[in-house]
Amino acid sequence: MSEPLDRSTHWPYDEHGELGAFSYQRYSSPTVAAAEAALGELDGGTALLFPSGSGAMTALVLSLLQPGDTIALAEGGYYGTGRTFEALERWGLRVVEFDQTGPPPEDVQLIWLEAPSNPYLTMPDLEAIADHPVPVVVDATVATPIHLRPLDHGTDFVLHSATKYLGGHSDLLLGAVICRNESAAEELRTFRGRTGIVAAPDPAWLLLRGLKTLELRVRRQTQTATDLAERLRDHWGVQTVRYPGFGGLLSFDVSDAETARRVETSTQLIVNATSLGGVASSIESRSRWEGDRVPPGLLRLSVGLEDPDALWSDLEQALAFISAPAG
Ligand code: PLP
Repeated sequence: MSEPLDRSTHWPYDEHGELGAFSYQRYSSPTVAAAEAALGELDGGTALLFPSGSGAMTALVLSLLQPGDTIALAEGGYYGTGRTFEALERWGLRVVEFDQTGPPPEDVQLIWLEAPSNPYLTMPDLEAIADHPVPVVVDATVATPIHLRPLDHGTDFVLHSATKYLGGHSDLLLGAVICRNESAAEELRTFRGRTGIVAAPDPAWLLLRGLKTLELRVRRQTQTATDLAERLRDHWGVQTVRYPGFGGLLSFDVSDAETARRVETSTQLIVNATSLGGVASSIESRSRWEGDRVPPGLLRLSVGLEDPDALWSDLEQALAFISAPAG
């Protein structure tokens, strides 16, 4: 059955003139609440929706931290996360980067991990971090709850860009924070209502629809990505393939920026576009966004639901201009 889409911005008080479950859309609304319930169940906590993944980051950081506080941020993660935090630096936020496969630095007030990191695809050491005295956030956008439920590993918050796999059809922009602790969720909900960083009903309805096929999509994307990673590893033109063994995202390096540009503009089935997590595969060279932070020949591939052989044929023809080594 399909949930109703309720676009109303307000709802009547009850027959005694008291507040009902819903009063004004900025505080809570039925369609957003239904999507939050579905997502909370998937991740094993209390979910709150925000207008984008970046909006979710901003709300979480502003509600948890004070000026002068420091975030220990996983290096090599989504470059936009660092950009979002940079925008908050003039309000007194500090950031130190660290290798998330090892222990975090001392004297920080929040730990920010990414599972797996985008586009390096490293995994954080969740067991080592679970007993850390400060809150731990895991951006699990790429893993999705199908492959990882960070709250089960003792972390405090999960963050998703629901724009990606959770929505799954490249037609909604949303973010989510899933809280382990109900009182932390209540604080964040209050902060969200007061600051207005809140999700609208229409994308929440699309998210509800996307979640119904999440597991099927992600399992198929994992199968195809595993297959493509293996075939790319055997290709003479490809130097490094990064794939953690699950999920639909991988990255690989060709020799230089010029070669990467030629590969990404030569695919026919795979769209040359940014973002990830949709049903249609997409590829892009990341240096256009991240500059020197990534190898110049790094290509990020988001694997969709197309036929795996058709995807491989497309990659193979796009890589075909790279000459095989002599002998
Ligand atoms: N986290 C990760 C891992 C991402 O890849 C992205 C976007 O690419 C975000 C967060 C930001 O999400 P949004 O674009 O919905 O703001």
